[in-house]
Amino acid sequence: MVELRDVHKSFGTLHVLRGVSLSVRQGEVAVILGPSGSGKSTLLRTINHLEKVESGTVEIEGELLGYRRSGDRLHELHEREILRQRTKIGFVFQNFNLFPHLTVRQNVAEAPLSAQRRPKAEVAALVTRLLDRVGLAEKADAYPRTLSGGQQQRVAIARALALEPKVVLFDEPTSALDPELVGEVLEVMKDLARTGTTMLVVTHEIGFAREVADTVVFMDAGRILEQGPPSQVLDGPRHERTRAFIGKVL
Ligand code: ATP
Ligand code: MG
Repeated sequence: MVELRDVHKSFGTLHVLRGVSLSVRQGEVAVILGPSGSGKSTLLRTINHLEKVESGTVEIEGELLGYRRSGDRLHELHEREILRQRTKIGFVFQNFNLFPHLTVRQNVAEAPLSAQRRPKAEVAALVTRLLDRVGLAEKADAYPRTLSGGQQQRVAIARALALEPKVVLFDEPTSALDPELVGEVLEVMKDLARTGTTMLVVTHEIGFAREVADTVVFMDAGRILEQGPPSQVLDGPRHERTRAFIGKVL
């Protein structure tokens, strides 16, 4: 479903992704752990083509992202094409990033109406379904500033689902929340996982990883240091650096 092959990315002289290869199958949940600065956010951003890769490839359902192959060369796609590809990917950020001047309903409806030009009535039904799913049907006409952080993040999840993406990327979705609000967001994510959503989740919530992840990926200095089922990576890490990191976040 999501296939990264030998992805490299630098910012100036800083080599941030140093050959990352990762394969996530349909319906799988991959949790990405790693120290600050190890390249986790950059990795998610390259999948969404918010960052251009320097070498290597990213594919979703066999479709190359951001480029077109001709012979053995790659040509960058037009912005329009990149935007179309991006509709296959939902993205949930640490800081919700809702549109403050739009209601909850309008936030969720925005992309299907403007990017996909779907009929209004169809979008209205979709939005109702999604808000129900994240437990916020009664907040449809509220503005984001009147919601708690946990509620805002649940709206952001509904919005990420509105384009019916193939995969949803989460970048530390609970780390800006007060501790008592973390659970409600994780519950929504668990529900998505249970219903077969393909997800890549950067988080320090080890409990979530243990319970939900099919695979846990530990990143260190721009590389995947180890990867495997949660029981293996969390309980019996092979590398000292993984062990030290898990010791710190538990
Ligand atoms: P954190 O856990 O703190 O979120 P991270 O693993 O997500 O860290 P990244 O945000 O991917 O790390 O950053 C990896 C490295 O790339 C860091 O050294 C960061 O300073 C650098 N970096 C990220 N984005 C940019 C950018 N746009 N320009 C320059 N350097 C950047
Ligand atoms: Mg980050």
